Amino acid sequence: MAEVLVYVDHVDGAVRKPTLELLTLARRIGEPVAVALGAGAADTAAALAEHGAVKVLTHEATEYTDYLVVPKVDALTAAVEAVSPAAVLVPSSAEGKEIAARLALRIGSGIITDAVDLEAGDEGPVATQSVFAASFSTRTRVIKGTPVITVKPNSAAVEAAPASGEVSELAVSFGALATGTKVTARTPREATGRPELTEAAIVVSGGRGVNGAENFALIEALADSLGAAVGASRAAVDAGWYPHTNQVGQTGKSVSPQLYIASGISGAIQHRAGMQTSKTIVAINKDAEAPIFDLVDYGIVGDLFDVVPALTEEINTRKG
Ligand SMILES: Cc1cc2nc3c(=O)[nH]c(=O)nc-3n(C[C@H](O)[C@H](O)[C@H](O)COP(=O)(O)OP(=O)(O)OC[C@H]3O[C@@H](n4cnc5c(N)ncnc54)[C@H](O)[C@@H]3O)c2cc1C
Repeated sequence: MAEVLVYVDHVDGAVRKPTLELLTLARRIGEPVAVALGAGAADTAAALAEHGAVKVLTHEATEYTDYLVVPKVDALTAAVEAVSPAAVLVPSSAEGKEIAARLALRIGSGIITDAVDLEAGDEGPVATQSVFAASFSTRTRVIKGTPVITVKPNSAAVEAAPASGEVSELAVSFGALATGTKVTARTPREATGRPELTEAAIVVSGGRGVNGAENFALIEALADSLGAAVGASRAAVDAGWYPHTNQVGQTGKSVSPQLYIASGISGAIQHRAGMQTSKTIVAINKDAEAPIFDLVDYGIVGDLFDVVPALTEEINTRKG
């Protein structure tokens, strides 16, 4: 069976959830071979094996943290040469997409970005993408070289599928460009205790209807009752009510959670572009004609200042 390379996103050996989702998808098209780089790479092996990696290729070097993405592209290129995989899967983060694009260029392959599903096809893996501000779904196949595919978080369930996870060291030699851009400082983001927006299984977002930075406490309380991340429309972000890093949409982040709750958001196409692939969409809006109601699974016509606290209270009560 053909091998499928999976690029491992991890923090000091702790594998992030989107990578485990990639292993689920990789198993549909071949045998997953994980590539883990940087400090703690070897510590990823147990989690990767537990979720289906038949092999784990590791390489630890300070270049991966001291410089931007090129050393990682060098390593993935080496892995492609060593394995001749049927495909290379990379999480659709900003960094993941840059790595994938550079890799595809290096190896002369086609690339598919932001896939939301993946299946085996007679002539190679077939990816589903959601395009034109999520107005259409397309099924796409790479026809040149080794398919490089980035996959959005929450596109597949994490499934335990124990495999051998045999660890071996990947031989990597860095090219001259690898050390071209040095990271000179890092500032940790202030921890909120909430999940990362693009990876969260549930996202609760607020828009202009929230009507003030102080009122975002209501959105945060609902999010916390569900263990969710907080998102915001551009109108709310531009008004200075919530940080830009939490903006969902065409010019913000693209999210695809199991559940998306939009409060006081009208549903402009640029907002929809960032959340329309969510599995279940709920909207709370006092205007029954708001366009967001065209795409929801459940719509609540009401004042968010009544509905959101009532919802939060009910959820907290049921949680006991
Ligand atoms: C190039 C470009 C890129 C853009 N990128 C993005 C993007 O990435 N993300 C994004 O979000 N937007 C983006 N926009 C902006 C987008 O077009 C909309 O202007 C924006 O999404 C509107 O935000 P909103 O829904 O919060 O506000 P509005 O459209 O003003 O809607 C507010 C909604 O709240 C409801 N409401 C008011 N009070 C209450 C209440 N008390 N209870 C319940 N409901 C209430 C109203 O009925 C209304 O439907 C972009 C625009 C352009 C031109």
